[in-house]
Amino acid sequence: MITGRTVVAGVAGRPVGHSLSPILHNAWLAAAGIDAVYVAFPLEGDGFEAFAHALRGGVVRGLNVTLPFKARALAVADQASDLARRSGAANVLTFEPDGRILAHNTDGIGLLRAFQRQAPAWDAAAGSVAVLGAGGAARGAVAALLGAGTPRVWVVNRTLARAEAIAQALGPQVQALPLGRAGEALADATAVINATSAGLAGQGGLPVSLDATPAGCVIMDMVYQPLDTAFLRQARALGRSTVDGLEMLIGQAVPAYEAFFGAPPPAGVDVRALALAALAGDRG
Ligand code: NAP
Repeated sequence: MITGRTVVAGVAGRPVGHSLSPILHNAWLAAAGIDAVYVAFPLEGDGFEAFAHALRGGVVRGLNVTLPFKARALAVADQASDLARRSGAANVLTFEPDGRILAHNTDGIGLLRAFQRQAPAWDAAAGSVAVLGAGGAARGAVAALLGAGTPRVWVVNRTLARAEAIAQALGPQVQALPLGRAGEALADATAVINATSAGLAGQGGLPVSLDATPAGCVIMDMVYQPLDTAFLRQARALGRSTVDGLEMLIGQAVPAYEAFFGAPPPAGVDVRALALAALAGDRG
């Protein structure tokens, strides 16, 4: 029931109608019995900054921020976590009672949580990781991997200059390669992460062969619409274990919920099943 004290949080993006975040957060809120609601804010036009400033003081407790506003979310904040700064983007803003806006980045945390859940034997610190792509998601992944102790991260991208910019920003453990030389990064990788938008419904797949990966290499795809991408199917055909983008989405929502509502999500809610049902509904 919505009351006079109902706390509001939500997700801002363009478009945002297909976001799974309201489903995850509202299921947790209902199970926890918290007087709060999580809604989608579709921001048409160019008013992201005006919207964020209007929420100062806590009219809305916090926001997840999705495409295309993650870099602007970092810029609008008064203070940012180390991970958000190193990622060059924020996917979570919180609105403090004193008027400040704080920026966080939980995407990289979500990535690592997804590995913990679906490939629990994988160790981030055990060897090099290849990240395919050099957009915001890739940079956040590289920042999180370095934070988890990965000794070397290859950033492999169609546009080499974007990969080089990430290497420049995040330090000597990060090395850039063009997509055509992906094999060099794959040969000794403990994990390969697709952080490109290739594979998204309606787009072509990623022209990268996983043949060169070692047998124990874990293959992860951030794309979750569709959940079963050609990239993951290629990995399974080679006998590699896989991690999917939906688990990353759930993984980033866990610390976001805690930032908004002050406690971890309650145990025992099968939010993955709810999200899968919503994805199936979207297809139908
Ligand atoms: P972005 O900033 O637009 O970057 C897109 C990247 O994909 C660029 O590196 C681009 O290469 C590359 N790319 C696009 N089409 C390609 C193709 N056909 N062949 C090769 N490379 C291609 O996007 P982003 O924000 O980083 O997001 C990347 C993906 O991660 C999206 O699919 C997004 O949905 C997903 N994501 C998932 C989660 C999750 O929780 N599961 C969270 C964040 C993001 P160029 O630089 O050469 O253009």
